[in-house]
Formats: sequence, C-alpha cells, structure tokens
Amino acid sequence: MGKSKNQQVSIERAEELKGRIEDFLEARKRIPKGMDLEAEFIKRKNKILEVLDATEENWNDYQWQLTHRITDVETLSKIILLSETEKMRIKKVEKEFRWAVSPYYLSLADPDDKYDPIRLLSIPTYKELEDTCMDLDPMGEEFTNPAGCITRRYPDRLIINVTNECAMYCRHCQRRRNIGEEDVHRSRKMIQESIDYIRENEEIRDVLITGGDALCLPDDYLEWIIKQLKEIPHVDYIRLGTRCLVTMPQRITDQLCSMLKKYHPIYINTHFNHPIEITEASKAACEKLADSGIVLGNQAVLLNGINNDKYIMRVLNHELLKCRVRPYYIFHAKHVQGTAHFNTSIEDGIEIMEYLRGYTSGMAIPTFIVNAPKGLGKTPIFPNYIVSRGPGYVQLRTWEGNIVKYEDHETKDIRNYLES
Ligand SMILES: *Cc1c(COP(=O)(O)O)cnc(C)c1O
Repeated sequence: MGKSKNQQVSIERAEELKGRIEDFLEARKRIPKGMDLEAEFIKRKNKILEVLDATEENWNDYQWQLTHRITDVETLSKIILLSETEKMRIKKVEKEFRWAVSPYYLSLADPDDKYDPIRLLSIPTYKELEDTCMDLDPMGEEFTNPAGCITRRYPDRLIINVTNECAMYCRHCQRRRNIGEEDVHRSRKMIQESIDYIRENEEIRDVLITGGDALCLPDDYLEWIIKQLKEIPHVDYIRLGTRCLVTMPQRITDQLCSMLKKYHPIYINTHFNHPIEITEASKAACEKLADSGIVLGNQAVLLNGINNDKYIMRVLNHELLKCRVRPYYIFHAKHVQGTAHFNTSIEDGIEIMEYLRGYTSGMAIPTFIVNAPKGLGKTPIFPNYIVSRGPGYVQLRTWEGNIVKYEDHETKDIRNYLES
C-alpha cells in the first residue's frame, strides 16, 4: 500500500531529525559514565580499604567516610599516581588552600590519569597558587549578611550557612574563604539569631540551608534547625544544599530520610558536574530521597576541562533525570582566587544551552546563570531566539536555526473583547 502524501512528508522530516542527533550518538560513546565503571570503582574501593586498613562496613558508614577523608599527600600517593613534583606542589598548595577527599569520592578517580575529572575536581594543582586574582569574595557575600549566618540577596528568600564542613573540598569552590583549617558547625547561638531574623521578617518564604554542606550536620542538629523553621507560618518550604549525593552518598541513611519526611515540603539541590559522578551508589542515594518525597535538583558549575562541552553536559543531564534529579542551574564559574584554570568563557555556556534546547527533553535543560558581581544576584543567560522585531511581528530563530515570522500584538484588556 502506498503511503499518503502527509505520511511521506513526515517520514522525510523524521529522517532529517535523525540527522540532528547523529553527532551526539557518536560523541556519547566516548563519554565515560559512572554507571559503566562500577567494576573499576569496586577495585579502587578495595585498594583504598587496604591502604586505610578498613572494612566494607566502614565504607558504608558515613561517619567513617567523613572522619577518614584523605588529607595528606603520603596517603594520597598510595592511592593515585603522583610524581615527586606533584607531591611537592600539593604540599605547597595545602598551606594556602585546604583539601580533603572522602574515600568514596577518591574511588571514582582514575589513579593513572592526571586529567581525570574527579581528580581535577578534588586534588589541588599548582595552578591554584599561580592565580594572580586576589578576590576571595566576588559575590560580595560579606556585604549581604544582615544577621547571624544569613546571606540575603533577594526579596523573599535567603541562605543560612550552617557549617563550613564538606565531605570533599571542591577545587573550584566559590566560598573557599569560608573553608577554614577546622571543620566547624555554626553555633546554636548564631543559627538561633538567623532563625529569629527569619521569624521577624514575614516576607521570607523560602529558606535555603547550606554551607559548606548542610548534610555534614548531624541529624539532630539539622532537625533542630528545620523544626524551628517549619514552625514559622510564613516559611513555605525549606531547601537543603548538599554535595553528599555526589561525594558521600552513604550520608543518605534511613534515619535521615525519616527525619526529613516529617517536614515536607523539602527540596534538595545537589551538585553533580560530570557523568562519572553518577554511580550506582549516588543513584541509590537519590532514589532514597526521592522515595521519601524530596524533590531533587542539580546545580552544576561550568568548568574548563571538566564539562565545558555540549555533549558531556547533555549526557550529564540525561543521567541526572534517570536518577530522578531535575537539572536546575548551570553556573558560570566566577573568578575566585585559585580557580582561574577552571574558568570558561560565557560563550561556552551559551553553546551548551544552544545544543540542549530542541535537541533534548525540556526537562533536561537547566538555566544558565551568571552571578552578577557584588552580590547583585543570579542573571540568566540564553542563546538569542528573537532576531528582530517590527510592528505586529517578531522574527524568531527556532532551535534548528530557521528564521520565522511570528505575529505579535500588544495585549488588550480582556473587557475590550467581551464588551465590543
Ligand atoms: C542562589 C541563592 C538563592 C536561591 O536562588 P534561587 O534562584 O531561588 O534558587 C537564595 N539566596 C542566595 C543568597 C543565593 O545565592
């Protein structure tokens, strides 16, 4: 039977659409994914357990992960390959900028590849000292602190920084000025002052608990904070900022989930940057939280040599959705002292956005954000889809680059229609 003319057109269009994804299908084969590397991770885990003289049971205990973070070059060099020069350089950098990696996160790093993304994200390099930029606070957080440990930059929401501790200190950290020599949680007094500020300011309807890593707090301390916030009538919901899903998924215990569940709505934003970070363990942690009714989002940072690539970002966002995490933001990395080598052009981000829209699910498309200087806030950046305007129309550029004319009129009051 012959096909109808319409169907013939549709078949041709489908062929054309296949052509729009061939490059991605080819590129995807070369992008390493944590879900394909499980056997490697297990081998590396066993090696690390041997070096640390520990057991599988220790590994699955987040307290052990946290207290056994690798923080010295000698231990590190038993796990990943380091030249004498590299060792010496890390020792120099650590005098200036602290580092620590959970055993779990280190097990994701290829021990023989010095450009491995996990390694670049977690192990210091000499580049951190060569950076001539002296700015440690480009977002001006020091000037947006009205009380306690709050950062307030918006009309209806704010951040409480509850700790300076993390399971791993990201080499691209934008708050590295807060990462002291000691891991300290903010005092009850300081946090109480922050909660009191929120109670007294009725326009605050969204509170973000972060740090550091909010989930570095023990369950009871975290609950003490959440419970009080939940009792404030004008607080609609609470968000937690944590990288534990990525760097220490053992933190997501049954106890934590049953505690959080009592205080819905709770949202968690995490920070996956590369598909290697999405592993069986991190996926299980995400699922556990999602099963507890927590809505998960991801805030990636665009980083040179890690994920400033239109294909890597697409794979990352697909992997996230498979773990029930919705891509939320991609941040342009600001220039904080010691992070120059990670900076990308804004154009890199625009190109990534260009090759997401239309090419993949809308759900896989986060917003690309540049943080304006001096704490002036998140500014979204998009590829340009309106190419020109004229009386009664705009010219649009579609995701494939077709230029189309689109009718556009001023909105009239609805009553003008009904009463004429
Ligand atoms: C990022 C941020 C928020 C949250 O911003 P959203 O766009 O609502 O996710 C709130 N307060 C501060 C100070 C922030 O930096």
